[in-house]
Amino acid sequence: MSDTIPNDAPLQSVESNNFIETIIEADNKSGRWDSRVHTRFPPEPNGYLHIGHAKSICLNMGLARKYGGKFNLRFDDTNPTTEDTEYVDSIQADARWLGADWEDRLFFASDYFEQMYVYAEDLVNKGLAYVDDQNGEEIRENRGTVKTPGVNSPFRDRSVEENLDLLRRMRAGEFPDGAKVLRAKIDMAAPNMLLRDPLIYRIRHAHHHRTGDQWCIYPMYDWAHGTEDSLEGITHSVCTLEFEVHRPLYDWFLDKLEVYHPQQIEFARLNLTYTLMSKRKLLKLVQDGHVSGWDDPRMPTLSGLRRRGYTASAIRGFCDRIGVARRDSVVDVQLLEHCLREEMNLTARRVMAVLDPLKVVITNYPEGQVENIECQNNPENEADGTRMVPFSRELWIERDDFLEDPPRKFFRLGPGREVRLKHAYYVTCDEAVKDDDGNIVELRCTYDPDSRGGSTPDGRRVKGTLQWVSVTHGVDAEVRLYDHLFSDPNPGDAEDVTTVLNPDSLVVKTGCKLEPELGAAKPGDSFQFMRHGYFSADSEDSTPERPVFNRTVSLKDSWAKIQQKD
Ligand code: ATP
Ligand code: MG
Repeated sequence: MSDTIPNDAPLQSVESNNFIETIIEADNKSGRWDSRVHTRFPPEPNGYLHIGHAKSICLNMGLARKYGGKFNLRFDDTNPTTEDTEYVDSIQADARWLGADWEDRLFFASDYFEQMYVYAEDLVNKGLAYVDDQNGEEIRENRGTVKTPGVNSPFRDRSVEENLDLLRRMRAGEFPDGAKVLRAKIDMAAPNMLLRDPLIYRIRHAHHHRTGDQWCIYPMYDWAHGTEDSLEGITHSVCTLEFEVHRPLYDWFLDKLEVYHPQQIEFARLNLTYTLMSKRKLLKLVQDGHVSGWDDPRMPTLSGLRRRGYTASAIRGFCDRIGVARRDSVVDVQLLEHCLREEMNLTARRVMAVLDPLKVVITNYPEGQVENIECQNNPENEADGTRMVPFSRELWIERDDFLEDPPRKFFRLGPGREVRLKHAYYVTCDEAVKDDDGNIVELRCTYDPDSRGGSTPDGRRVKGTLQWVSVTHGVDAEVRLYDHLFSDPNPGDAEDVTTVLNPDSLVVKTGCKLEPELGAAKPGDSFQFMRHGYFSADSEDSTPERPVFNRTVSLKDSWAKIQQKD
């Protein structure tokens, strides 16, 4: 992978504090957590990580790094039916790729199932939890609405003994799914609906990818999450804003259990234009075959972005740039693209590729002659040196670099017009050869032998510079041009996201011609194809015999333009 930024590079800007850093620094000053900082990233292993998760990882990991603290990776694997070890593996690989380091602190909620159960008995013993025999529908109905209070369950006043007995029998597997639940006894009239006797355990006779058939009761999110944080000694439990309404419950559980109690802090989740950020909806796209998989280069997943050619450092830079706030907003996806371009501009070799080839024959160039032309690899990085590219009598140029009847402002080739071939010679077009149907199949040109390197003794100037590839030396390749997966800037708003899929999100070009060195590109190697954009060799399909390149981004930096105007 062409990611050259070391993994210990800062994940968060050290320049100005975000609001969470302000909280941490105040805590460190007051000695609230004995000056410890301990964060975590708690994904549910029910899908691949996406760019939104990257924000959360960079934030949590960055805080630990900035304050010399610790960072845990914890799988919130409390829902056996949607989770899978495939996701457990991919999440670790992607988080590591991004630069996260949890050292030896890889945890699973399922490791705490026994302790969580002990805590649940504790709540029962304290008279703060009860077994409810109502079914799901009754529970929902009796919860009330935002305007009306809920109704107490007829089972709410069971004795501690009866509750304990029933809970143990739930655990022992005596009851079928849905027959009973364990609920916290809080307040059925609480204005915050989440406090109306929330569920703690439900019965689910399901096989778990780690605990097998050991359990048939599984903890609910709110119960599990706080106890996990507590058991791991987390100090600042950072989560997204939608959990703000859950905080009173997080606090209630830990207060009533009288255990170590981290502080939950909410921040605004990342939303990106033209991008879907829900694992559930992304899974559906995969299952229904709208994309080739979780790592389809159009997916906002880390594996998709990586395959597309994004580097971990560009994604980290993006997460740093967008910052951390408490107000929801939508970030323009062009900023993400801009961050990639900015990096690639400094690191990517400029190479020549012709995506829609038209043959040029230089009639006054000796047959069989080959010159090796020295080409600068990257004007932004002198140290990257030069490479030799073969030039010969027959070349490919881009088909749309020739017009039979060019308008005045068209500075490329036309009958009688002269252009510069990048790094090589001036050529003038003498004739366009057509087939029987009138299609142009070849241009016949003459070159000026004194113009090598791009200037002439008479100081004659030309405006157009074209890239080219030698016909006998060029490499055939497939090039995949990507656009946004969705045509709607807010695909998440659509009832059915398949109605806003962009039909042109992938254009496959075969028979493209690349300069010879690109035949040796390794998966993930990135280049600037001059005048076309940044491209990366596909990690799945590219071979030396048949290179396949993905366009990561085009060269047009609309974001930079927007910034200039402001
Ligand atoms: P999704 O809605 O995509 O399924 P999720 O929140 O259910 O996401 P989790 O696996 O529960 O996914 O998320 C792990 C962590 O990543 C959580 O702390 C969550 O807050 C955070 N996270 C998820 N999506 C985003 C996002 N778009 N921006 C920032 N953080 C996010
Ligand atoms: Mg979730």
